[in-house]
Amino acid sequence: MKLCRFNSNRLGLVLGDEVADVSEVLDGLPCWNWVPPAGDPVIAALDTLRPRIEALAASAPRLPIAGLQLDAPVAAPSKVIGAPVNYHDHLEEANTDSGIHHGSVVHPIDQMGCFLKAVSALAGHGAVLELPFTDRRVDHEAEIAVVIGRSARRVSAAAALEHVAGYALALDMTVRGTQERSLRKSCDGFAVLGPWLTTADEIADPGAIGFELTVNGETRQASDTRLLIRSIPELIEMVSAYYTLHPGDVIMTGTPAGVSPVSSGDQVSLTGTGLGRLEVVIG
Ligand code: MN
Repeated sequence: MKLCRFNSNRLGLVLGDEVADVSEVLDGLPCWNWVPPAGDPVIAALDTLRPRIEALAASAPRLPIAGLQLDAPVAAPSKVIGAPVNYHDHLEEANTDSGIHHGSVVHPIDQMGCFLKAVSALAGHGAVLELPFTDRRVDHEAEIAVVIGRSARRVSAAAALEHVAGYALALDMTVRGTQERSLRKSCDGFAVLGPWLTTADEIADPGAIGFELTVNGETRQASDTRLLIRSIPELIEMVSAYYTLHPGDVIMTGTPAGVSPVSSGDQVSLTGTGLGRLEVVIG
């Protein structure tokens, strides 16, 4: 299934160029007076929602996807995790470009660990990303995101994919500088996710997802998850050794070479095998 969140929290099933509005299935979700459990309630309930969504698809109202406001397909993750320096070619460019390394030696992911991006930074397809500063470099980072489906704590790489709900395209937007990544990568709109969530059953091999990013039609980044230093199962093992992953948690798996500064008016477009096309405009 390809699931989207559209027009202020409607749930949609993407069928080609159309979206079936299956929001009716949300009526059965549990409600809480205060403090819901950690994680996204739709992703947590996906196994029970799935047959109802599929049953409703034929009769649900259809809307052309082109006219819809698409939000990040996961509404309420407890965390958005970033994987720094997880492609060898990006390690090389980071250590070559002083606008990236700022005088430090950049190390690969095993020495760096992972970082967190603020959940408030989430944005979806079609977002206009405002540049927070006029005098600082802001880069696009094209990434494949994995969305956790079942809680994961101290999970082995061998069992990791059983905890995955699906995959989406992501932009880990970044202000360059010497400050902590968690600050520089958490500006409003700097965690772009979408255009929808493709459930794990539709991705034959998450270790072989090709993707390409263009800016104003010109290719800047093109790679494949087969080139990750730490694979998706290894990333889940790594981070779940530190904290529990809840349904809806997002891991942005890292960016390949080709990161570059964006400026006002740029149109950024990211495509990935089986994942659609994610576009944003720099405001
Ligand atoms: Mn990144």
